[in-house]
Amino acid sequence: MAGRDESAWRRDAVAILREDSAPTPLRTGLASFGEAIRLHVKDESAQPTGTLKHRLVRELLLRAVIEGEIREGTRVVEATGGGAALALAHFANRLGVPFTAVMPARAHPAQIAAVEDLGGVCELVDPPPAIYERAAELAKEHGGHYLDMFNRAEAAVDWRAGNVAAEILAQLPEPPAWIVCGAGTGITAATAARHLRYAGADTRVAVADPEHSSYFPAWASGYDGYATGMPSRIPGIGRPRVEPAFRADLVDAVVPVPDAASVAATRHLAGRHGTAYGPAAGACWWAAMELASRMDRDGRTGDLVVIAGEGGGTYAATFYDDEWLAAKGIETAPHRAALDAFEATGEWRPPAR
Ligand SMILES: *Cc1c(COP(=O)(O)O)cnc(C)c1O
Repeated sequence: MAGRDESAWRRDAVAILREDSAPTPLRTGLASFGEAIRLHVKDESAQPTGTLKHRLVRELLLRAVIEGEIREGTRVVEATGGGAALALAHFANRLGVPFTAVMPARAHPAQIAAVEDLGGVCELVDPPPAIYERAAELAKEHGGHYLDMFNRAEAAVDWRAGNVAAEILAQLPEPPAWIVCGAGTGITAATAARHLRYAGADTRVAVADPEHSSYFPAWASGYDGYATGMPSRIPGIGRPRVEPAFRADLVDAVVPVPDAASVAATRHLAGRHGTAYGPAAGACWWAAMELASRMDRDGRTGDLVVIAGEGGGTYAATFYDDEWLAAKGIETAPHRAALDAFEATGEWRPPAR
């Protein structure tokens, strides 16, 4: 009767994974250029695990369960020190399967503790690029499943329904002019672009790209083999190489954002709007300000929706700490002054590069 047990477990697992998928809130009217260009935030920190990765992880697990790659007792393994680790720990806990996160040794202690609190195991590896090989190896040793989100995102994620762009369209009276997101795997941007075409919405997709990332140069040059080989300093977004789920040909703009501007915008959002997000959200906010000012100059009107990928809770001692920023040489004052001046005057004058 092993076959019947297996399908009963699978049925329960699928039901659990399909459970918590309520739309996240759209925080409207946080800033505007005049009356007719408005900036809103799609608040993914309201996901049950506080991260946008909740969506991707749910879809990757669903696919793996349905395909029989994850069964009762299968150890799930992923190489990540970021939000995906937390989302995976949550779902592995719900499914009752063991989970190991292979993280870079410099992973934040709060992140490690959060995964362990949910019953996950953290294995710390140095140097950081070695996490992928170690995760694959570990999955093999345990007869487990290496999730491999960068390579599997594209096949697992449904762009027709249930994605972040579909929710945004349902939450606004008119489709927005722009959706602005960051790119880690690239699947959020590609899925949004596909869905917008599918829905016939006249909305463009912009990616906010931090320093050292390959996405802006790859998009600008049209060469998807572009690789900086350098890690991004903004958690969750920017990659040393172009990942397979990122589709430069589907996004309308990639906006390079200085790291100091990302941090300044993150702090500005928290201070002025009472919304503490991670620095990737600040990068998107800054890019949205740039796009909005261009719309204003060109006499266009409409909404811009910034996707905030996570809350700021784990960054109290880093991106929200002035001494830490100073030690890292991240000088945010000129960018903060530009954001404050905009609040006061409605004029957007970012510092010269
Ligand atoms: C992963 C991540 C993103 C980007 O999402 P992808 O779909 O992987 O491109 C944006 N913000 C945060 C905070 C993330 O963790």
